[in-house]
Amino acid sequence: MHGLMMDNPLLISSIVEHADINFQDREIVSVVGDGSLHRYTYGDCFKRVRKLANALAKLGLSEGDRVATMAWNDYRHLEAYYAIGGAGYVCHTINPRLFPEQIVFMINHAEDKWIMIDPLFIPLIEKIAPQISDVEGYIVMGDEDSIVNTNLDNVISYESLIKDESEQFEWPLLDERAAMGLCYTSGTTGDPKGVLYNHRATILHAYALIAPDAMNLSNRDCILPVVPLFHVNSWGSPYGAMIVGAKIVYPGPKMADGETLYNLMEEEKVSVSLGVPTVWLVLLQYAAENNKKLNSLQRTIIGGAAVPESMIRDFQDNHDVFVQHAWGMTEMSPLGTVMSLKHGMDQLSQDEMVNLQIKQGRGMFGVEMRIVDDNQKILPWDGEAFGALQVKGPWVCSDYFKLKGSAGAHTEDGWFDTGDVAKIDPQGYMQITDRTKDVIKSGGEWISSIEIENTAIGHPAIAEAAVIGVASEKWTERPLLIAVKSKDQEASKDEILSFFKGKIAKWWIPDDVVFIEEIPHTATGKIKKTALREQFSDYQSSE
Ligand code: ADP
Repeated sequence: MHGLMMDNPLLISSIVEHADINFQDREIVSVVGDGSLHRYTYGDCFKRVRKLANALAKLGLSEGDRVATMAWNDYRHLEAYYAIGGAGYVCHTINPRLFPEQIVFMINHAEDKWIMIDPLFIPLIEKIAPQISDVEGYIVMGDEDSIVNTNLDNVISYESLIKDESEQFEWPLLDERAAMGLCYTSGTTGDPKGVLYNHRATILHAYALIAPDAMNLSNRDCILPVVPLFHVNSWGSPYGAMIVGAKIVYPGPKMADGETLYNLMEEEKVSVSLGVPTVWLVLLQYAAENNKKLNSLQRTIIGGAAVPESMIRDFQDNHDVFVQHAWGMTEMSPLGTVMSLKHGMDQLSQDEMVNLQIKQGRGMFGVEMRIVDDNQKILPWDGEAFGALQVKGPWVCSDYFKLKGSAGAHTEDGWFDTGDVAKIDPQGYMQITDRTKDVIKSGGEWISSIEIENTAIGHPAIAEAAVIGVASEKWTERPLLIAVKSKDQEASKDEILSFFKGKIAKWWIPDDVVFIEEIPHTATGKIKKTALREQFSDYQSSE
């Protein structure tokens, strides 16, 4: 017997309808191309969202057609999110930092009909245009002036496209399982794989992320998502923020600029920010060098890569900002875990608190987790055992776009294998110890490269650290520390190696340190260990 409740589908257009009535005058502030600030309200935004939805319909698109965006975090990109998805098309966000050949692959694989591009990316698209000839046209996200110098075919500016359109739009009553977003994983091995989001998953994920024990977003917040709209839906922030009606601040092309981020936080009274560790490194450096304190920021949610202990302490000790570590991936919309305190934890000492914050957080309702060993045996949540992390839930992908199960990422009993290795403590706090392919196998045991990296970063002379396994006759593999020195700091190899004593298991201490100028990163800011392994393939371990 079915219950007798209304069957309203969960659609992102319902966020527009709700927020438009309830939060008309809430502000959205964006840094734009010339560095100036654009400021308008939710009410203004939704008028333009409807105009864009009308304009897209006139381009002859059909339900499910892909419209790509390649743009920074700003108000036009936010409008595109809602207009494309809400009107029944699929918003394919493209990361401009990927290699051109990867971008070509993704556009062709997705069969994008139209591409919306930030004026700054015109040269990039012009270069690859001959290889993406099935694209019907380009919308440059600017005014009429933004297209005067391009030789792209069938190009129109965003402002002229929407100018004469109606501010009214009848949102289609879609199936809540209809696709509305598409994001490709960067594919460090093989071709990028497309994750196809639907309305239902996106709304459920948004409900989960605003909850008090997750991002704790409310109408009283002012949120600065530095995490890009061009990768994994900016962690669901466009949806979460607008469900509650938070003020939104976007850094535009200035997302890696410490001074801009600092000024935005202070002047717009930002209370919560989202981003990857590298971004916060830049902000904290700017604050330290200029003797400035973050006065309005209360908490920052950091994920995408492990947060070093020194960063947690810097935020807390110097700025009174609480770091909430989070973990997830493109395949998970992306959130899986967020660090938040359980009852009684307010009493923790500072060191105990930091030890908790270093972990990636606990599972949210909606994501089931388990860790398994090489034989798929389920491991206990004892904070000691570590194994492959598998997840399940309504916002976890069930397959990749057009791959029909061939990626082999799911287990026979329907769990998604994240490719991460983790341990989980009895309280449910999960800690990533490695990627499956980066784990170091030494003397039949696993060594966590992430834990060694985190410890290394705590040394003042080390700005960035990467640990890889190098072949060892006796132990199979031994950890090698590859480090970038901090500016104006010196330390000998021996000093650095003895710094590990008492901090990690003795047999985990690397046998050697090599200093390099720069550690290679992927387009999503992660350390590119494949490149390092190649670079150090001839390295001889001193047994
Ligand atoms: P990509 O496209 O580069 O794969 P994702 O954002 O999907 O981008 O990357 C997800 C992966 O990033 C995770 O599987 C995990 O390895 C890593 N990751 C994400 N958050 C964290 C975190 N807080 N700590 C450690 N690793 C993390």
